[in-house]
Amino acid sequence: MHRIILMGPPASGKGTQSLRIQKLLGVSALSTGNLLRREVESGSEIGVEVEVYLNSGAYVPDPLIMKMVANWIAEHDESGWLLDGFPRTLVQAQALESDPSFQAPTLAIALDVPEALLEHRIAGRRECSQCGATVSVSAGSDEKCPECGGELVSRADDDLENFRRRYANYREFTQPLFDYYAAQGKLLAVDGSRSPNEVFAIIEQHLQR
Ligand code: ADP
Repeated sequence: MHRIILMGPPASGKGTQSLRIQKLLGVSALSTGNLLRREVESGSEIGVEVEVYLNSGAYVPDPLIMKMVANWIAEHDESGWLLDGFPRTLVQAQALESDPSFQAPTLAIALDVPEALLEHRIAGRRECSQCGATVSVSAGSDEKCPECGGELVSRADDDLENFRRRYANYREFTQPLFDYYAAQGKLLAVDGSRSPNEVFAIIEQHLQR
């Protein structure tokens, strides 16, 4: 059974690859970022609590995110899973293995992209307000969603300052997990600056070995 975690800095293509891996393997997937944004939009108690972290580019506290992921896994663990954006800290990674609410991952995929390219991608990243698709646009354009014609909007946390904080956190807290998973022989590091098709081809080849 596949239990895959997907790591990568903001705009490294985690969401795009997650969709493709889901289709390939038929596993359920959780994007912790999307889950948190939905909580904020719904105005739930959790949403109110996490909004300040999301708006400032900080990581949400470990116990809170671990409880949310454990609840999701409890409902989706029959046919394997893919976690996009969890774990992001060593505490989260260790919990995945030692906490009875979780199970250890079978594969850790890390998308590696240089900072300058991430900044460029962030500047052009839009989300469709109707179907939720992620789309990249060229500067100053007012394109519509190629999937459904819906209005394209920027994600609230995609300004440059917020990106830089998220990226700094990523370097400090998440990147050390590469060594953690490499030591277990579970790390697949992929050059995420390549096209989505090329990145997926590498992942697919690894999964079908
Ligand atoms: P990105 O990778 O572009 O920052 P995500 O949508 O994956 O975007 O996450 C958005 C935000 O959600 C993060 O900046 C962070 O505040 C919060 N978040 C998501 N996953 C976690 C996690 N595992 N631990 C702590 N915070 C998280």
